[in-house]
Amino acid sequence: MIDLTAHTTFRLPFQAQSVVELRDLESAPRQLAQIQSPTVVLSGGSNWLQLATPFQGTVIRPRLSHVQATSVGTAVDVRIGAGMGWHEFVMQSLKAGWYGLENLALIPGWVGAAPIQNIGAYGVELASVCTGVLAWDFKAKAMVTLSREACEFGYRDSVFKRDLSRYCILEVHLRLQQKGTTTVDYGAIRSAIEAAGGDLSCPQDVAAAVIAIRQSKLPDPDLIPNVGSFFKNPVVTHEQCERLLALHPELPHYPDSQGVKIAAGFLLDKAGWRGRWMGSVGVHTEQALVLVNQGAPSVDDLRALVRTIRAEIQARYDLSLEIEPTQVGDTLG
Ligand SMILES: Cc1cc2nc3c(=O)[nH]c(=O)nc-3n(C[C@H](O)[C@H](O)[C@H](O)COP(=O)(O)OP(=O)(O)OC[C@H]3O[C@@H](n4cnc5c(N)ncnc54)[C@H](O)[C@@H]3O)c2cc1C
Repeated sequence: MIDLTAHTTFRLPFQAQSVVELRDLESAPRQLAQIQSPTVVLSGGSNWLQLATPFQGTVIRPRLSHVQATSVGTAVDVRIGAGMGWHEFVMQSLKAGWYGLENLALIPGWVGAAPIQNIGAYGVELASVCTGVLAWDFKAKAMVTLSREACEFGYRDSVFKRDLSRYCILEVHLRLQQKGTTTVDYGAIRSAIEAAGGDLSCPQDVAAAVIAIRQSKLPDPDLIPNVGSFFKNPVVTHEQCERLLALHPELPHYPDSQGVKIAAGFLLDKAGWRGRWMGSVGVHTEQALVLVNQGAPSVDDLRALVRTIRAEIQARYDLSLEIEPTQVGDTLG
């Protein structure tokens, strides 16, 4: 058995029968076609809850890290290997003068995982720049190109997240801009740029502000194991939102294509969850949406904590909290 516990940022115990590393586009299809056992694709492990171990199958690690860019007028089309670090590519693109990813700086993980839950932060989602992906289709046993439409991106959602066993993404395709327009009206970006004497229209200044804000409020998974936001922000109807605002006028809420997005962290905070522990797992003292542990978490403790939080939020606000990270091997219920 191969121990992969250290390759996931929540550090739940994770052993696997075998691991296959993919290194380049030429040999990956042959390697993938040969696998007979059940498979899971593990990239940076930062959105991963291993709920049963050992895994009796093959863990695929797509470590391709090429970057190919083509100019298209004032835009640039970029094909990025799935194994490149996400933040590394964001910084590389800013340096090259390719804009559109600055609000997504410092999100952990690898490029190939970004489409899975359509990563998003500070008012920008991957979907706004992604034109498609190149993937291995385990069902068709062939390489396929999925267009942006075929990816069916939604809020922390995509066609991939709905069927995690079907595809292994090998390359992500983005259209970035060489003349950037910035998005600064979400969270504290505008005030952080102004406080630093920066330029609101400069993508590098936006990235610097996002990095500073994230470093000040999110625990570093290398020091405190976590998976970032543990729950999705609930999306409610305008009528439900009005009812919640009548009871909690200060409730942060944002327009969403499906209705109104409610800040789940605020709900947990108001319910007094910050800093509370149940055995080996707890709620971060600064960020109520982030569940943490001290390095030896137990699935039973996590299950109990999640069950209690969800029941309390349901009873207090009549809202059901959905778990954001991928649950592997079992579910938390
Ligand atoms: C501190 C912290 C902050 C975070 N902040 C944010 C944030 O602001 N916004 C946000 O959206 N997310 C955030 N996340 C969650 C996480 O970083 C992202 O979801 C990231 O894209 C996961 O990448 P990964 O490489 O770690 O994926 P993994 O955890 O390895 O995998 C996640 C899922 O994607 C699948 N997968 C991975 N790679 C591939 C592939 N190549 N082909 C097919 N399937 C694949 C896996 O099977 C699994 O189901 C945060 C996490 C942490 C720890």
